[in-house]
Amino acid sequence: MNELFLLRIAPEWGDASSTISPVLLRDESNLVLIDSGYVGSMPLLSTALAVLGFSPAQLTHVIVTHHDHDHVGTLAALKRSNPQLKIISSQLEAAYIAGKAPALRLTQARAIQPTLTADAQAAGLAFLSLLEQVEPADVDWTVSDGDVLPFCGGCDVLATPGHTLGHISLYMRARDTLVAGDAAVLDSGTLALANPQFAEDRALAEHSLQKVLTFGAKTIICYHGGVFPK
Ligand SMILES: [Zn+2]
Repeated sequence: MNELFLLRIAPEWGDASSTISPVLLRDESNLVLIDSGYVGSMPLLSTALAVLGFSPAQLTHVIVTHHDHDHVGTLAALKRSNPQLKIISSQLEAAYIAGKAPALRLTQARAIQPTLTADAQAAGLAFLSLLEQVEPADVDWTVSDGDVLPFCGGCDVLATPGHTLGHISLYMRARDTLVAGDAAVLDSGTLALANPQFAEDRALAEHSLQKVLTFGAKTIICYHGGVFPK
């Protein structure tokens, strides 16, 4: 059994661009979530899983592509509700996910806040507050480029740094599908860089986007934008 499901999480506070697409993998012994959704989105995640006949308590692993609030927002809550759950990330991202290094986006947002126009200050403060609500969670298993995770007949770890330096993507062999995280976003039918102005290293991000585009996977799934090609 090598199943892949696309979840759609649409927070009530957002517009269409706020909808995110975590991926769920299932084989005989594992139920693996790739990225976990926004802070406070446990009810939405639970509902999205329930639609497919699953519950958070059944998850065996969460693979985190990188430490951004929309990817790690429910990790701590998931782990509390399911202590057996194993969290997987790159070594670099693990320090941020566990709260051992200051969160990149929080550092960026704090630096930008004083430069915002009066009109943008409130939205800036709301975003800062959101980022401050991200709870740390310990990573159980760190992975590197070239590792093959034993899910669904083999799931390759691809280092795709740039958006953050420890960003990873996953390639599910049995489905010829590359789960790109934020190494690529799907915007109006085109694969592009995610928020290039906030990339930790833009040149690396460009390189990683090319890696995703030239990998040769039949299907690419972006956390923001969903499935390419449609
Ligand atoms: Zn994201």
